[in-house]
Amino acid sequence: MGASDDGSSDDARLKTIVELCVKAENAPDAEPERALDAMRAVLKHSETTFESSTLSSTDFARCGKMINGLRKRHADARVRDAAAAVKKAWTDMILANAGVGEKKEQKVASKAEKATEGDKGGEEAHGTDARTDVKSRLTRTADAARDRTREIFADALAMCIADGAVEASNAGKLAAIADQIEEAMTAKWPEGGKDYKAKVRQLAFNMRDPKNPDLRTNLAMGEISADVLIDLTPEELGSNERRQANEKIREFAEWEAVRGQQQEASTDAFKCGKCKQRKCTYYQLQTRSADEPMTTFVTCVNCGNRWKFC
Ligand SMILES: [Zn+2]
Repeated sequence: MGASDDGSSDDARLKTIVELCVKAENAPDAEPERALDAMRAVLKHSETTFESSTLSSTDFARCGKMINGLRKRHADARVRDAAAAVKKAWTDMILANAGVGEKKEQKVASKAEKATEGDKGGEEAHGTDARTDVKSRLTRTADAARDRTREIFADALAMCIADGAVEASNAGKLAAIADQIEEAMTAKWPEGGKDYKAKVRQLAFNMRDPKNPDLRTNLAMGEISADVLIDLTPEELGSNERRQANEKIREFAEWEAVRGQQQEASTDAFKCGKCKQRKCTYYQLQTRSADEPMTTFVTCVNCGNRWKFC
């Protein structure tokens, strides 16, 4: 069955998956085999990845929601395991999709670089010079560990020169920024310790990330201050592609979480923008602070379209 599935279009495959998910959701608890067979079939249909547009479609999110529900709440452990396997496959697809986008862009960029710039050896030597130059301009503290941290940040910021985002004559400015970041960290964690070290690792990883030149460039340009930097979340630090993938995964979780908590009410007060019918269920939730209006989550019973508004 798998071979012929690979040839079928995304639309047909997703339509089958929607039907299987509905089947699994509606299977009576007394017949867990039916839900199990459906989930195993969904897993089989998930062996090849989907197009990017399919991964961001309403139907995909709707299935994600149903699969999440089975994973968490089904009475039979085998069904929960099968649903967990599907969820993992889908999460991997979303992440790989984000990764593929990055690789394509990088390939194009490196080709363009080769066409316009000189030999690679010269470029690498330039990078080493820049790092040495920035590090030599750091302000030393009386503490070897703090100096080491400053060097790590200086190394990362010097990449802006190799990136071509900052002129080599700005080495002193980059060193001052590395000093400021470490200064802000010591102000927040005066004893150093575990949190300080973890933050050094997290910041260095993201500042050096070849897929995330924006972070170090924004730091070099003064668009992100040291105080703001050290309080950014992992998502805010990460590259755009990674952020978008995380948002999609969170979106599943949001719909899943609210559905679990809320009693849905039927109404004809809302018209579905997709199928134009007025058969909807909705629930309201305080998603932000208490003095702001509730968010209303609407699901069209007819076509599964979902939307929310404040
Ligand atoms: Zn509809």
